[in-house]
Amino acid sequence: MTTMLHESVKSIQQWLFPGSCLLCAARVPTDTDFCADCDAALPRLTATCPRCAAPMVEDGTSVQPCGQCQQRAPAFARTLAMFQYAPPIDRLVQGLKYYRKLELARLLGRRLAAFVEGHAVANVDRIVPVPLHSTRLRERGYNQSLEIARPLARRLGIPLDYESVRRERATEPQTGLPHKARQRNVRGAFSASDALAGLRVALVDDVMTTGHTVNTLARCVRQAGAKAVEIWVVARA
Ligand SMILES: [Zn+2]
Ligand SMILES: [Zn+2]
Repeated sequence: MTTMLHESVKSIQQWLFPGSCLLCAARVPTDTDFCADCDAALPRLTATCPRCAAPMVEDGTSVQPCGQCQQRAPAFARTLAMFQYAPPIDRLVQGLKYYRKLELARLLGRRLAAFVEGHAVANVDRIVPVPLHSTRLRERGYNQSLEIARPLARRLGIPLDYESVRRERATEPQTGLPHKARQRNVRGAFSASDALAGLRVALVDDVMTTGHTVNTLARCVRQAGAKAVEIWVVARA
């Protein structure tokens, strides 16, 4: 009975508010972002380095880290990258980042949650978005990584922490940091509080390009005592 009622409410909703595909405007059921054709054509990554998600040539054996990771292991254990940074994903990411299309964060965050769930997520205690420098945050008005991390954390039921790491002014001398704050500064780029000590942390970002930023942040978070760090990103360049 309840199921029937639920179903009929759902069909009335769909009749009242039919959705449309974000990419081609085809009609789709409510709460569906893309039509089946557009969804199937999204630039998924097939063969990647298990450590840094750099695209690799599929050789059938896989699981070996890429040459760069073998040469110099990053500070994070693995990277989960949902898409290639290619059309139309680049357009969606840029829409969120530069054109204030904040509704895209919900879409990308929800999808990232489903993607991460497919890769065993039980081992993460905190979701930490890559912070923006305060000047940039003031200019933009929001941190796109935090906006992606909110629906992601909610869906996965993992606590979100956007206060324990900060992006510092690059020119700020390390000695200038207050001792009481118990923060550690790594190359002046980030600081992390010891609130993350002993925890397994997933760092969330919209796009990972060289991996330098997330690696610097991962090292900082590890130095603040985090037990393990992994990276979750919407797209890998
Ligand atoms: Zn479509
Ligand atoms: Zn790699």
